[in-house]
Amino acid sequence: MRIIAIANQKGGVGKTTTAVNLAAALAAVGRKILLLDLDPQGNATSALGVESDGSRSLYGPLIGQGSVKDNILSSPVENLWLVPAGLDLAGAEIEVARMDDHLTRLRDALGFLATETGFDCAFLDCPPSLGILMTNALAAAHELLVPLQCEYFALEGLSKIVQVVEQIRQSEANPGLAIGGIVMTMYDGRTNLSQQVVGEVRSHFPEVIYETVIPRTIRLGEAPSFGKTILDYDPHGTGALAYRELAREFLDRQIRSGGMPRD
Ligand code: ATP
Ligand code: MG
Repeated sequence: MRIIAIANQKGGVGKTTTAVNLAAALAAVGRKILLLDLDPQGNATSALGVESDGSRSLYGPLIGQGSVKDNILSSPVENLWLVPAGLDLAGAEIEVARMDDHLTRLRDALGFLATETGFDCAFLDCPPSLGILMTNALAAAHELLVPLQCEYFALEGLSKIVQVVEQIRQSEANPGLAIGGIVMTMYDGRTNLSQQVVGEVRSHFPEVIYETVIPRTIRLGEAPSFGKTILDYDPHGTGALAYRELAREFLDRQIRSGGMPRD
């Protein structure tokens, strides 16, 4: 059972798109996946077409009211379950910050995943800021998956993330945290810039970067507005193909490192 935080402090880089579609692609090959929406915007929740009345989210568990388990909903995708987000999560930033154990609230709330459930993997879709919610996700996760947009300042953003991971590692919150993967998103093969950025990241992080690159496609941008994953919305397009490839590579790595069983 692995807990993966999908995080990048930069907004709009493809965190939610990757969380939803990687989760769906893993679910499609039979893995049992839990997606936890940690962003008050609730983009992962609506992208999956889940209508949430706001009564379920990680807010309660974070402030010590109720369990994560009681906030899990099934999704329209087989093998994929969701803890939806609600606007109340925005309030958690402030309330949790006041608590003594503010860094480890989520880690403790997710403790049950290690033993009690049949999930193979849990993804935390993080909000785009270095606030309490994101640091809680980093403290709770075994590893980080960083979506990185193919753009000029990508490497600068990445060095900031590396710094934050180092800080979390040095605090007692999560000494074992590692960047398990970097996935390049919104790749446009027609531009030199995209190719250059991928090349640079690859030369700095050869072990961590995924071979699979997610192309910029209109379909990936459209799918969430229909509440569908790319596998349902455009199953034969390049976006679906890319996320299936990413899922295959992700599984390979997990199996090799012992994070997930072969089947
Ligand atoms: P935030 O920081 O606000 O949570 P995010 O990092 O989760 O953003 P997304 O919401 O996944 O980013 O993507 C930002 C926007 O770009 C969305 O409108 C999404 O549909 C679109 N998008 C994401 N990936 C792609 C892609 N590969 N091709 C085209 N559009 C994309
Ligand atoms: Mg998002």
